[in-house]
Amino acid sequence: MTNRRSPAHVDAPLSRRRLLGLLAAAPVVAVPGALAACPVRRPGAAARDAAVPPQSCVITEDNIEGPFFLPGAPHRAVLVTPRDAGTRLVLSGRVLSTDCVPIAGTRIEVWQADASGAYDVDGFRFRGQLVTAADGTWRVSTIVPGRYLNGRQYRPAHVHVKLEHPRFAPLTTQLYFEGDPYNEVDPWVRRSLILPLRDAGPGKMGRFDFVLASA
Ligand code: FE
Repeated sequence: MTNRRSPAHVDAPLSRRRLLGLLAAAPVVAVPGALAACPVRRPGAAARDAAVPPQSCVITEDNIEGPFFLPGAPHRAVLVTPRDAGTRLVLSGRVLSTDCVPIAGTRIEVWQADASGAYDVDGFRFRGQLVTAADGTWRVSTIVPGRYLNGRQYRPAHVHVKLEHPRFAPLTTQLYFEGDPYNEVDPWVRRSLILPLRDAGPGKMGRFDFVLASA
């Protein structure tokens, strides 16, 4: 045993230095989503290094598909064209398993409204599908979606996503943006799906890690 301690040591009050040391050594309990909160774990790392404490990433909440999904969107990560109106937005992040291992080869379908809040139901404007890279990362260039009326109330700005991978449970959900006043009144918003946007040149950027359950 390398970490045997005397009873006196165990019973002694924690010094500030020791407390900070213990906190630094504690396993991270990850909150998925905004600001890439999940720690990265290399594929196979847990099996190779039994001394590394287990990590866990929380499965991303699902959310309604809505009526505007169209299958067969083009494979592309750039959904915006130079002539499109709207604030440019780059969304990126990773797809992880519940033990925080990046999932390569996840298919992500993205669809959203244009700047005026309209979906293209005759074509594939602001629709696309992409596949996560070897490190589980994804990235989409688009615009901040416009809000649209659902009955008499606007839905907050949101981006729809579907994720699929043969070894994991499929996920359909939506991403929302911090500071949207309609987040407070929309019945479908979930706090865990709200991400902050920060300024990036003339546009915005935001990060979100998806966590998939095993199939
Ligand atoms: Fe929608």
